[in-house]
Amino acid sequence: IESMKDKKVLVLGLAKSGVAAAELLHKLGAFVTVNDAKPFEDNKEAQTLLHQGITVICGHHPEDLLDDGFELVVKNPGIPYTNPIVADAISREIPVWTEVELAYLVSEAPMIGITGSNGKTTTTSLLFDVLKEGSKKPLIAGNIGTVACGVTADASADELVVTELSSFQLMGTESFKPHIAIWTNLFEAHIDYHGSMEEYAKAKFKVTENQTAEDYLIYNADQKIVADFAQQSKAKLIPFSSNGRLAEGISADDTQIYWMGEPYLEQSVIALPGKHNLENVLCAVATAILVDCPKDAIIKVLKIFTGVKHRTQFIGEFNQVKFYNDSKATNTLATKSAISAFSTPLILLAGGLDRGHSFEALRPYMSHVKVVVASGETAERFAEFARSCGVKTVVLADDMTDAVPKAFELSEAGDTILLSPSCASWDQYPSFEKRGDLFIEAFEALQK
Ligand code: ADP
Repeated sequence: IESMKDKKVLVLGLAKSGVAAAELLHKLGAFVTVNDAKPFEDNKEAQTLLHQGITVICGHHPEDLLDDGFELVVKNPGIPYTNPIVADAISREIPVWTEVELAYLVSEAPMIGITGSNGKTTTTSLLFDVLKEGSKKPLIAGNIGTVACGVTADASADELVVTELSSFQLMGTESFKPHIAIWTNLFEAHIDYHGSMEEYAKAKFKVTENQTAEDYLIYNADQKIVADFAQQSKAKLIPFSSNGRLAEGISADDTQIYWMGEPYLEQSVIALPGKHNLENVLCAVATAILVDCPKDAIIKVLKIFTGVKHRTQFIGEFNQVKFYNDSKATNTLATKSAISAFSTPLILLAGGLDRGHSFEALRPYMSHVKVVVASGETAERFAEFARSCGVKTVVLADDMTDAVPKAFELSEAGDTILLSPSCASWDQYPSFEKRGDLFIEAFEALQK
């Protein structure tokens, strides 16, 4: 990391990660320039950075920007490799990193990196709670909490940085090497960005690429593509399976969790619903065991951890109808997990941004969905799909405020009303969080 001193670095994109990276690089003595599309007058971040003595170029991306002799580019994970400046950097053989690489380079604390198509946030926050309860001094980075390089910069060797990693973040790493890597699963959701499943898997594999024999890779042994890739890792392999006892790693049958083939704990202590969450629990428990976290701390947290906001989150019960907010479910895989977490009759609120994606993957799970309330751009398409699955009652709604009372009206005691849209939120809401909050508000309004 000393090599950052006097280095000419370009930071592309000023979201949270860009600001944190620019500030850290500046502190390390690099000559930092930031470039962001948003004009300077409206760009608070740029104004603050300029104040600190960082060079700021705002409002456009000059084509000849790299002629200035930059030795490193740190880009926002959301900026695609087809971006002209990024493409130019690659053709000039200038390294292109995300802040995760920086986070690793400055970190004195060992890192635990969690990746996968689904379950990252849940696993990250469950693991954080477990380690905290077990006095393991965890720090949390990623979607919930602070950008990784903001956290690791001040971390000390006796702490543990638990960080969630998207494939976009991982693609911009070079030497990043977590002590423990977790690969929850791999589903088709992000194929549009990566081109193929193979490319997508390769991006995820970067979580373990630099690991060595003193590190661990916890991976999904129930998914062939993940298990096959995992065999190429040099880390100690910790397979997990929710489909029955394994002789190695961590596994679960219907009642027990096994560690290295031996019964470890009863699943009845787990508060989180659903088989998908059981997999997240397996990942968190395996990690906790590997870092010598006391078992009573693990059990204590499993009993009280009921999920992260907007992820199959229990909202409350009204007139014997339970309400769950799974607004984060922006693809069919997530909705499939959520639906199969329940055995009660379901009233499903679905629909949102139309990416032209198919809902077919949900078909085998629709049998206990008795009502669908569809809204958003895909309302008609989702309604059509639900009817073709044999769902008896299918209605359309304008938005969350309209959908919740409609769903409640069609419910009976013992039903569950589940918001799990299978679509992104940007057709009608600024974020999935806002969509979930409106769902919660509409639930509260019912009771007034
Ligand atoms: P991520 O951070 O990877 O997006 P989250 O923990 O936020 O994952 O969960 C997002 C949604 O994905 C949840 O609402 C749930 O429906 C589904 N999900 C969570 N964990 C898993 C898993 N292990 N396997 C499949 N689906 C999952």
